[in-house]
Amino acid sequence: MNHFVKTVSRIFLCGTAVCVLPFAWGCAGKSAAPAAPLAAKPAAAPVAPAPALPADEELARVGVNEAGLVPIIEYHEINDKPGKMSRSAALLNRSTAQFRHDLERLYAQGFRPITMREYLDNRIDLPLGLSPVILTFDDARASQIRYLPDGKLDPECAIGILQAFHTEHPDFPVHATFFVLPKHPFGSAPAEAQSKLRALVSMGCELQNHTLNHRYFNRMSDAAIRREIALGQAGILQLVPDAHIDVLALPGGYLPRSRNHAILLSGDSDGIHYANRAVLMAAAGPAPATIAKKFLAWHIPRILAVEGDAGVTYWLNDFKQHPKRRYVSDGVPTTVSVPAYLSSTVDRDRLQGAELHVYGGTEAVASVPGGKGHPRRPHNAVE
Ligand SMILES: [Zn+2]
Repeated sequence: MNHFVKTVSRIFLCGTAVCVLPFAWGCAGKSAAPAAPLAAKPAAAPVAPAPALPADEELARVGVNEAGLVPIIEYHEINDKPGKMSRSAALLNRSTAQFRHDLERLYAQGFRPITMREYLDNRIDLPLGLSPVILTFDDARASQIRYLPDGKLDPECAIGILQAFHTEHPDFPVHATFFVLPKHPFGSAPAEAQSKLRALVSMGCELQNHTLNHRYFNRMSDAAIRREIALGQAGILQLVPDAHIDVLALPGGYLPRSRNHAILLSGDSDGIHYANRAVLMAAAGPAPATIAKKFLAWHIPRILAVEGDAGVTYWLNDFKQHPKRRYVSDGVPTTVSVPAYLSSTVDRDRLQGAELHVYGGTEAVASVPGGKGHPRRPHNAVE
């Protein structure tokens, strides 16, 4: 496909004009970025009574850090027989063995899937000491959900693998966020596409917007961008009327050429209003916690599920080597526990009703998570 060829040329042009687009962090002052609108949704009430907050000594022993980084991993194809592929198409493919291995590693390193909503609500509900991961799947590709001729879920499709992993590891829920292209989701006819989308929701997954036609925003007028977002949302709602669409994944990771980023978060077109709480890039690295000052709702980085620099294996290795960088839960969703040396990184206006608990006295600020020195995959490197 032609856009794949164009994409791969961009990947290997890293360092040229393509890569001077702003990365996730450090660019707020240079653009027309709106303030992060995080107060859009009421927080869900916890199902069970929340446990008591552990003593500070226990928080310190476990390494609790609710201002830490959250990996948002980006998948496309999960396919063992993808056929002959261009290098860019290969970049978007993960074998079933690689996907299973990613899940094993995430589990072993203490990551558990959460929804985008939990992340954006600042209500991450994980037991003490565990860390959140958000699994995302773009483009509604056929290998993401597939049924066998007998009507059973194909155990080799992405959601089949995730379901089986959940059966083996009940504390690893089937939470994933699907950024859907609504014209022909999963390569299926409309009725089948509709039933697949509904099945995903019933399993615990979220459906979100990836626009109508997957056109790159850096080549479009603001009016055309609004139209792509509004009609993408409408297309999903036509198939699943009760879907809650409030997150956008940028096609190719491209921002509007006008730099009018407010149009990504809210706008109107064709009589349709959209209001996005968050906008995801196509790659880059782990995401800041939503309470972090460096969090930008219109520019949230993801980790591409590839090998090599700045891919999922790279970052899982990095989290293992630097455990202080990641978000680690205190076990109480309504309390945000942060070690004292990171308290200056917290934007207290973003707590969304949660209580900030700073613990651990004073410590040097030198080891603030997400420091410089990592290879960053360009956020616009993929589909
Ligand atoms: Zn895409």
